[in-house]
Amino acid sequence: MLEMNNISKVYQSDMVQTHALREFNLSVNEGEFIAVTGPSGSGKTTFLNIAGMLEPYTGGQYLLDGTDVGKLNDNALAELRNQKIGFIFQGFNLIPDLNLYENIEVPLRYRGIKSNERKRRIEECLEQVGLAARAKHLPQQLSGGQQQRVAIARALAGKPRFLLADEPTGNLDSLMARQVMELLEQINRDGATIIMVTHDPDLARRAPRNIQVVDGQLADFSLYQGAPEIIT
Ligand code: ADP
Ligand code: ADP
Repeated sequence: MLEMNNISKVYQSDMVQTHALREFNLSVNEGEFIAVTGPSGSGKTTFLNIAGMLEPYTGGQYLLDGTDVGKLNDNALAELRNQKIGFIFQGFNLIPDLNLYENIEVPLRYRGIKSNERKRRIEECLEQVGLAARAKHLPQQLSGGQQQRVAIARALAGKPRFLLADEPTGNLDSLMARQVMELLEQINRDGATIIMVTHDPDLARRAPRNIQVVDGQLADFSLYQGAPEIIT
């Protein structure tokens, strides 16, 4: 379970303060699939980065499976992140001169996972995203949708409980976006909790729970009757 209580985030640059999040409250249960929408600059990426422990927050309390994230030192943060969190980004972030197998292997090596276990996980994850036959191919030999599936396989290889996706379909045409969404739905059925930022109202509506970030605060439609008007 992920719980944010009155989280705030203030960016300070030169003389300018930006309140990216203010009094942000959210509870996410194990197994949920949440779509996050909201205007550009409203705080979606900041929220996701804080949830993934990539950025510190400036106030409030964040509990991840009962652990108070604010009390952890850098090593403990990295360990918790490695244990629980997987990321997917709009730009895929694959390394161009490594093949698919090697791309998925990089974070596993970094975590000190032994070579036979790495091989087992990589083959399983490539199978899961339907790219087992392409293990030796370079990213540029694949379509955008296939590249995103490799990035998803790379995240899955870490066996995350929480998969955080920032505009995962932002660079994809609508057919490929739908295929990536179907893959995320399958991963969610297999047990991972998913939080996905998206500008695509059609994809957002497919998610069982929609939340919207407006001016750094949360509007949670699961609390209201009726269909939300999705602002993107
Ligand atoms: P998106 O709106 O697609 O999430 P970004 O997260 O890249 O785009 O950026 C959101 C906003 O944050 C942009 O207006 C950008 O100018 C601003 N921003 C990002 N990084 C910085 C920074 N280091 N200093 C000031 N503003 C920043
Ligand atoms: P979104 O993802 O909804 O587009 P962001 O979380 O990227 O919004 O940004 C929220 C606010 O914080 C924006 O006003 C943005 O300009 C500001 N911001 C984001 N990153 C930085 C940064 N590194 N330094 C200063 N301001 C930032």
